[in-house]
Amino acid sequence: MSTEFTIAVFEGDGIGPEIMTPTIEILKQLQSSSDKYTLNFSIAPAGANHYQQTSESLPEQSLKIAEESDAILLSAMGLPGVRYPDGTEISPQIELRKAFNLYAGVRPVTVRNSKYCPIRRPNGEVIDFVLIRESTEGLFHSMGKGTVTHEEATETLMITRDVSEQLFDFAFKLAGQRKSSGVSSGRVTCVDKANVFRAFAFFREIFDERAKNFPDIETEYAYVDATALWMVQRPWSFDVLVTENMFGDILSDLGAGLMGGLGLAPSADIGNNQAVFQPCHGSAPDIAGKGIANPFAMILSAGMMLDWLGHQNNNDQMILDATALKDAVNSVLADRAQVTSDIGGTASTKQAAQAVMKCLGK
Ligand code: ATP
Repeated sequence: MSTEFTIAVFEGDGIGPEIMTPTIEILKQLQSSSDKYTLNFSIAPAGANHYQQTSESLPEQSLKIAEESDAILLSAMGLPGVRYPDGTEISPQIELRKAFNLYAGVRPVTVRNSKYCPIRRPNGEVIDFVLIRESTEGLFHSMGKGTVTHEEATETLMITRDVSEQLFDFAFKLAGQRKSSGVSSGRVTCVDKANVFRAFAFFREIFDERAKNFPDIETEYAYVDATALWMVQRPWSFDVLVTENMFGDILSDLGAGLMGGLGLAPSADIGNNQAVFQPCHGSAPDIAGKGIANPFAMILSAGMMLDWLGHQNNNDQMILDATALKDAVNSVLADRAQVTSDIGGTASTKQAAQAVMKCLGK
């Protein structure tokens, strides 16, 4: 098994580079403390700034760096003022999902510290579920190809059997892992709108077919609108949720809200051969350059990358380091002086990241 890994790094736009720099420092500190693995970072230029300078948003060479890497670490990309001639924003992250068929968008919703959660939990219930957002089709299928006339605009929602089968298998396997590690009882909820759209009845039918291969996992269905309600009223009742791309896009921001904000929400987009790890938030141009961006979503995404690489390559140290990283963030979150202002603290990006490093060094 290999212990040397190449990580493609997309630093992105806005606050992207500000949160990527300390994240890489933390990863370097972790690897140097054990010698059980090596990460080589390879910068891949892309994004809105790059487009402004070169008229290319995702150059061939950057795509090649990503393709040849073992994992992709991506900060936020895109700027509201920089657009393609058709008016849409520069989003190489969405192009990467399509290029590498990264169908499983993994959005963990874990409340790490009660004081950041806006929901009352009468009996101290634990909020720890995973939303899986299909990331290559659904309503994003016609992205950039929708038709617009003076009278009307049309986009197409696409659900395919092949992608749905892989998506549901991924969700059932994840529920199985959570069950066997004692995190949950093993349940997958199919979130759709099968009462109104035939495409979602089809989605649900495939869910039922694949569920038969996972008899130890409980299943249930929920309409997306009711799911939004229940995510606020009883979010502790969920284990693994699986849904279409646009529904997942919206629900994952609701999940970020439960955790305390976008600055605390990590994510991964995983396919059969490649994976991208990035925070759920965008490039936050309103605070770019001020040194106050919350680095935790980026740092936690890097933790998800270590965990994924560790499991893919049977590298226990990487899995241990991923847990240590999560624990370090949890412990830093306890002290408002060490967190950034988006979650009520007073620390700068640098200070918050240094607090995590210090904690890891103990
Ligand atoms: P996108 O559509 O690209 O996801 P968005 O329009 O949802 O982007 P964001 O860039 O995520 O917007 O920003 C939404 C709000 O959250 C902004 O006010 C921004 O400053 C804030 N925000 C996002 N990420 C962070 C962060 N890491 N730290 C502090 N504030 C953040």
